[in-house]
Amino acid sequence: MKKVPFLDLKAQYKSIKSEIDEAVALVLKDQFFILGKRLEKFERDFATYLKCRYVVGVGSGTDGLILALRAIGIKKQDEVITPVNSFIATTLAITELGAVPIFVDADKDTYQIDALQIDKKITKKTKAILPVHLYGAPCDMNTIMKVARKHKLLVIEDACQSHGATINDKITGTIGDLGVYSFYPGKNLGAYGDGGAICTNDEKLYHKLLKLRNYGQSTKYHHDNIGFNSRLDEIQAAILSVKLKYLDKWNKSRNQVAKKYISGIKNKAVFQKFAPGTVSNYHIFSILVKNRTKFMKFLGDKGIQTNIHYPIPIHLQRCYRSLGYREGDFPISERLAEQTVSLPMYAELDWPSQKYVIKIINSFS
Ligand SMILES: *Cc1c(COP(=O)(O)O)cnc(C)c1O
Repeated sequence: MKKVPFLDLKAQYKSIKSEIDEAVALVLKDQFFILGKRLEKFERDFATYLKCRYVVGVGSGTDGLILALRAIGIKKQDEVITPVNSFIATTLAITELGAVPIFVDADKDTYQIDALQIDKKITKKTKAILPVHLYGAPCDMNTIMKVARKHKLLVIEDACQSHGATINDKITGTIGDLGVYSFYPGKNLGAYGDGGAICTNDEKLYHKLLKLRNYGQSTKYHHDNIGFNSRLDEIQAAILSVKLKYLDKWNKSRNQVAKKYISGIKNKAVFQKFAPGTVSNYHIFSILVKNRTKFMKFLGDKGIQTNIHYPIPIHLQRCYRSLGYREGDFPISERLAEQTVSLPMYAELDWPSQKYVIKIINSFS
């Protein structure tokens, strides 16, 4: 039987193996692992790619979100507006600081934060907006930035899934005050372990972040801030500098795979829609199906691996019971959680494999 995995990192490694192996070997030869020239190079490379002034490499996307919120001064009881339809790390960063997540439901077509609902969620305690570009598809930053400027709120973009995705040729993560990326291995730009980065055009925030990620020190053993230890290490930085060169090519391939799914799937599946002027990086290719359990089992029995992003909306997670939300509070996100299925999606997915997936999906009834 043909097997189609959900993601094939081995295929990607095979395509760049000699470059990666050499880059890692050089770090091992130097035996210098933290805050060295490879991180500096990657931060420059990534800033150039993003067309953004500053990049700070950190330990993970989650750390990046926490440090970004700290850099803009988010404290206990502050309110941060964020989509309820996301990976939980977005909200974990807010509650880690003792701040309060104020959830906004998803738009039924784009699955992104319904930006038109943000205005009415703003109170005296609101300090920031933390939108997400979910599945690598840009959310409505035009509306978000307008609301934010009107109410003098800062915006941190969770671009942890949207490396290289654009809104009118601007790369997601560079539109708000700060943008946060994850280099978790399965992301479109993935390290070989945990990693993350924050970008900003604001020099003050940049210097604050450099200190925060490094025990709050600017000079060794002189601690101006109560800092944190969260740094992108030299091995990961060296790997990411190699992989960054291929990001646009990989994102293009993913877009081609997506196009073929959209034209090939004739079933009653519902596809995600995109705002005009935006280009997704197709981190996740999701379809909505009514009888999902049966659908996933049908594909699984035929050797096709699928996933769910995400099965339980954040407001209904057990860890957030104390926030007091109930079923029915965010109906669109709840319906998405019930119906969404993610299909195999990676740059190296070849046409015979994809054709097989499409054929099997079309034979499902
Ligand atoms: C992956 C992800 C994160 C967290 O990144 P880590 O590097 O895994 O900590 C945050 N937000 C979103 C939307 C993500 O997909």
